[in-house]
Amino acid sequence: MIEFDLHTHSTASDGVLAPAALIQQAALAGIQVIALTDHDTTAGVASAQSAADQLGLMLIPGVEISAHWHDCTLHIVGLQVAVDHPILQQGLDRLATARYARARQISQQLNAAGLTGDWCAAAQQSGQSVGRPHVAQALVAAGHAATVPEAFRRFLQPGKPGYVAGTWAPLAEVIGWIQAAGGQAVLAHPARYRLKQRRLRRLLDAFVQAGGVGIEVIAGSHSAEEARLLARLARDYHLFASVGSDYHGPGLSARSLGPLPALPAGCTPVWQHWSLPAADGSVHAST
Ligand code: AMP
Ligand code: MN
Ligand code: MN
Ligand code: MN
Repeated sequence: MIEFDLHTHSTASDGVLAPAALIQQAALAGIQVIALTDHDTTAGVASAQSAADQLGLMLIPGVEISAHWHDCTLHIVGLQVAVDHPILQQGLDRLATARYARARQISQQLNAAGLTGDWCAAAQQSGQSVGRPHVAQALVAAGHAATVPEAFRRFLQPGKPGYVAGTWAPLAEVIGWIQAAGGQAVLAHPARYRLKQRRLRRLLDAFVQAGGVGIEVIAGSHSAEEARLLARLARDYHLFASVGSDYHGPGLSARSLGPLPALPAGCTPVWQHWSLPAADGSVHAST
């Protein structure tokens, strides 16, 4: 049996492990097919690919793009994307600029609240897709909170002094970038948005209409019951089912890397038409 993990993060965004170290961990943990899906960047894919080549893992080039749909922030995973595609990269550049501007505004608001410091500079490392987790780490390093979750709770969540909503791209546009790059658009962790059934169905209508092809049924943050509900929705909407841990590294993720729960019966896996490694290491088209 092939073990898949199609949602992971590295230091190219808010993960703890460098791309090569992440791939090494995944290999040790028995994963054979892994997607690197950093927030709004593909900067880690090349180095993950070299590591995967050395270790005999199959790397799926991916990205997790921040999008908005009405007043919700959604995460859309792009799998099998051509990372150099100009339409995808122009879109990601736009989000990188928005992320930097947002980090500056977060820093200003934190200063206005009495937390003196250049939190944007502290959060920004070269080549990184800067986000709230980096600001949280800087606040922890400065002693304003003991842990990253505490920094989120006290300063960075809605209603807190350092909260700034992201200015992401519309859902349909984001799916368009992924399609342009030849990828498959998968709605990440649908249960995390806390949408009522009717609203979730409306979201899936819009998602399918825009060209989305899959949803995460197994996700690090989903309960078994949520996975069963999402398996039913995947079937109803003729969507592929994906599996991903959303691993961010030791200390940042509740579960470690390793085999994920199996997809519930009746799901069509997102890898249905992929060319997959065989047990003997050769590559063949799955049927
Ligand atoms: P951003 O995209 O910059 O808004 O940051 C969102 C990221 O922050 C998510 O992908 C998570 O990795 C992380 N995150 C969100 N909420 C929390 C929290 N309460 N505690 C720790 N990390 C969080
Ligand atoms: Mn994250
Ligand atoms: Mn996410
Ligand atoms: Mn993620």
